[in-house]
Amino acid sequence: MTFDYDLFVIGGGSGGVRAARVAAQGGASVALAEQSRYGGTCVIRGCVPKKLMVYASEFPGAMQDAQSYGWTVHAGGFDWPKFRSTMATELDRLEGVYRNLLKNSNVSTYDARATVADAHTVTLSTGERFTAKHILIAAGGTPVRPDLPGAEHGIVSDDIFDLETLPRSILVVGGGYIACEFACILNGLGVDVTQYYRGEQILRGFDGEARGLVSEEMIDNGVDLHLGTNILDITPERGGYVVKSTKGTEKWFEKVFFATGRNPNTAGLGLEQTGVQLGRYGQVEVNEYSQTAVPSIYAIGDVTDRVNLTPVAIREGMAFVETVFGGNPTPVDHDLIPTAIFTQPEIGTVGLSEEDAREIEPVEIYCTSFKPMKEAFAGRSNRVLMKLVVSQKTRRVMGCHIVAPGAGEMIQMVGIAVKMGATKEDFDRVCAVHPTMAEELVTMRAPVRTS
Ligand SMILES: Cc1cc2nc3c(=O)[nH]c(=O)nc-3n(C[C@H](O)[C@H](O)[C@H](O)COP(=O)(O)OP(=O)(O)OC[C@H]3O[C@@H](n4cnc5c(N)ncnc54)[C@H](O)[C@@H]3O)c2cc1C
Repeated sequence: MTFDYDLFVIGGGSGGVRAARVAAQGGASVALAEQSRYGGTCVIRGCVPKKLMVYASEFPGAMQDAQSYGWTVHAGGFDWPKFRSTMATELDRLEGVYRNLLKNSNVSTYDARATVADAHTVTLSTGERFTAKHILIAAGGTPVRPDLPGAEHGIVSDDIFDLETLPRSILVVGGGYIACEFACILNGLGVDVTQYYRGEQILRGFDGEARGLVSEEMIDNGVDLHLGTNILDITPERGGYVVKSTKGTEKWFEKVFFATGRNPNTAGLGLEQTGVQLGRYGQVEVNEYSQTAVPSIYAIGDVTDRVNLTPVAIREGMAFVETVFGGNPTPVDHDLIPTAIFTQPEIGTVGLSEEDAREIEPVEIYCTSFKPMKEAFAGRSNRVLMKLVVSQKTRRVMGCHIVAPGAGEMIQMVGIAVKMGATKEDFDRVCAVHPTMAEELVTMRAPVRTS
């Protein structure tokens, strides 16, 4: 049987673009359909614009510190429309880069929504129909609003980058990394931020001590964080919204921002009738090679809801190409993925939290929390945290958790050592870099706890 293409990719985000490009560079004939903008969530409405906003929001603190260091600094106001317009230009440039990457690799691109008609056929919203030996679903995910009266009045992360004006006050709902990052960003940009989270502590799943410190620092920095608090309903009033909470309060906010989770983009994609299995949240069920129950259809990235991060989607795309077009079945390694949360202060983390490690085996905890030199000099009270979770039996470092400015940069390097199976004694054999915050990672002598 002959096909129009060797591979048809649905979705031009992090995973889809990488897989399409690498497969085409290897000689496969490849097509890709994108319904919105090339680059997907990461480039257009995720990691990239978010990190630019993180940078923008850090300047007030930096200017305050500059004064403590002897500089005369006159901070004017923050010009959101100007920043937003420069950010939009940068995202346009990046989208162009992604389009060119595909073009230069000879991938045929279709600016259209695609659906799956059968195991080898894709239909486009333009009415075109193509056959392919393999179909790759890389459709990503979408933010979801909770099911409560007035929820339609709230914005989600997709909307935040396009706001005409910054609100004077905002309620951020949620306790995951996106909620916490935007609470910090908006607080830094001068918005009056309240955050409601229904759980006992923000950042569920991360190390307890790290979560605790970030939560304290966020409150210290001015975020009005309410734990164990959820929304009952939202009513438009006086150009904003009155929000009733489960704590019995009624408060007015100019905007309400839901960061309450994301769902995989599989609705109406035509997968079920083809025999592809979907999970409870609509995620595509795949095996370790990202293959679905239909042998010719694979899925990678957020649409599979495994580890929803850009570098993971990219790796899954590379492993798919190696498996299907390289003749070398390559499972995706989801173990020990270092990651960062760009709150203020940041968290950098790799491996198991203290709580999870304890469930598995006896551990030793090495941990220190201190005022870093730069901030202490500037008269700030901020603290940082360096923590190692060590197996008593093998001495391997099972987890490393850093809360500090620049923790994301630090954890990338620690991740190499942890992935290589470094022991606590390997860390100790490394000479400190002085004076830095990270030197504490190789100078902690005695455990603070054992279990
Ligand atoms: C606010 C925010 C911040 C984030 N920050 C980080 C971070 O700091 N670090 C990190 O690693 N990750 C971060 N992420 C997660 C990261 O963006 C995703 O994990 C990553 O983009 C997933 O890539 P993907 O290829 O699976 O999907 P996506 O990048 O979402 O791409 C999917 C694409 O498919 C298209 N599409 C969907 N359905 C169809 C269809 N039927 N036909 C045609 N096209 C279709 C969509 O328009 C989209 O462009 C963040 C996410 C958000 C929302």
